[in-house]
Amino acid sequence: MNRYPMPSLDPVKRIQTFDEVATGYTWEMAQAEAGRCLHCKNAPCIQGCPVGINIPDFIQAIRNEQIDEAYAIITRDNLFPAICGRVCPQESQCEALCVRNKRSESVAIGRLERFVGDHVTTCQIDSIVEIPHKVAIVGSGPSGLTCAFELRRKGFQVTVFEALHLPGGVLTYGIPEFRLPKSIVNKEIDHLRAMGVHIQTNVVIGKTLTIDQLFFDGYEAIYLASGAGLPKFLNIPGESYNGVFSANEILTRINLMKAYQSNSDTPLPTMHNIAVIGGGNVAMDAARSLKRLSKGTVYLVYRRSEAEMPARKEEIEHAKEEGITMMLLTNPQAILADDTFRVRALQCIKMELTEPDESGRRRPVEIPDSSFLLEVDTVVEALGNFPNPLIRKSTKQLEVDRSGCFVVDEHLQTSIPLVYAGGDAVTGAATVILAMGAGKKAAQSIYKKIIN
Ligand SMILES: Cc1cc2nc3c(=O)[nH]c(=O)nc-3n(C[C@H](O)[C@H](O)[C@H](O)COP(=O)(O)OP(=O)(O)OC[C@H]3O[C@@H](n4cnc5c(N)ncnc54)[C@H](O)[C@@H]3O)c2cc1C
Repeated sequence: MNRYPMPSLDPVKRIQTFDEVATGYTWEMAQAEAGRCLHCKNAPCIQGCPVGINIPDFIQAIRNEQIDEAYAIITRDNLFPAICGRVCPQESQCEALCVRNKRSESVAIGRLERFVGDHVTTCQIDSIVEIPHKVAIVGSGPSGLTCAFELRRKGFQVTVFEALHLPGGVLTYGIPEFRLPKSIVNKEIDHLRAMGVHIQTNVVIGKTLTIDQLFFDGYEAIYLASGAGLPKFLNIPGESYNGVFSANEILTRINLMKAYQSNSDTPLPTMHNIAVIGGGNVAMDAARSLKRLSKGTVYLVYRRSEAEMPARKEEIEHAKEEGITMMLLTNPQAILADDTFRVRALQCIKMELTEPDESGRRRPVEIPDSSFLLEVDTVVEALGNFPNPLIRKSTKQLEVDRSGCFVVDEHLQTSIPLVYAGGDAVTGAATVILAMGAGKKAAQSIYKKIIN
């Protein structure tokens, strides 16, 4: 028996709104899907979960119609089931190791996790025994918030400092509403606040306050979870013309600043035909968001074929259903503008694939004399991100690698004692659950260092 399909909005209707595309299981569907779990003794799925959720037990609780119990089981290891159930790449983690995979399809663990997060009725918070130790966390993305959760429940006084005016990191400013509604993010962050975690927004560490000042203010340890928010560019001619954006800027304007609403403070310019460059989740999110905002054609320009795209399969399928035009085996060469310096075209060249490169993917090479013009008025580059250099520049002894990522030891401690780091700020752009795993590990290290 195959897994229960996820109900979703009709593609023709959904591209006219930012409403969530996947609408979630009903009780009946969740029970039927939970019934497929074999409750294996050795539970290989747990090995595939970077935060080690007891998956068979929470699924068993759904079967028994004990939704609050299922939530309690998940939140022993993960405070964000509704978020992770939506955005984790389960197909390459817990679900990849599901025994059901051998004969049919794996149990839809992510969808069931989301179901629990969405349907829980009481969020029981264990009583906290306060201890007089202060920890500062820099960045309120999934890594910082997970570290805050783990330390707070051990009784630490935790303050999260966030540069933006809203908490959540990429969950809030990057991943679009139609994939991860902000009401869901806010609800899960509210649980953290209810536990007594202080979140101070509009504080830029490295500018408003320095690392030294945090220690001076009595924080005994600091966790740097500042993410990787500095976009990479192709460095092709024409990138300074009007109408060229990073995907980060476009997504931040749309998600954080609600540029799709008529009363937005930072509206987007009128756009018709748009080229989004890249093949990862960020490119899919940018293309699908822009499809909802433009009446023209949205092209996705990627230099390899669909098989090499790093985006999740589900995202590629959704993008195709929504009418994104895939320009595969196509590489941008230059951006051309009109007399007013507004983008008028993207010059591209056709590519073909040869033998695999160091990433294991087949290497794309240009086909001679195959250049052509794609007539667009907007170009969006989604090529990955580096960590922002602000904290490094304002903290001399902090060691970073060639990409600007913090260098840490096996306990996630940086080159400065009692300053820890994790998530995208250490690994470069990765995933929500890996960032959360790092937050959990850093919390354990901080606990051992301060308490033992
Ligand atoms: C558009 C997009 C879509 C994605 N989709 C997925 C997905 O579907 N599934 C998935 O698993 N992963 C996805 N990812 C990747 C995932 O979101 C990241 O790996 C994850 O958010 C990293 O978490 P983090 O806590 O390390 O950093 P972030 O989420 O980047 O949070 C860092 C926070 O630190 C703040 N900050 C930075 N510098 C400072 C400073 N000096 N002072 C104070 N605060 C500071 C930032 O404002 C930010 O809020 C996506 C990423 C993007 C950009």
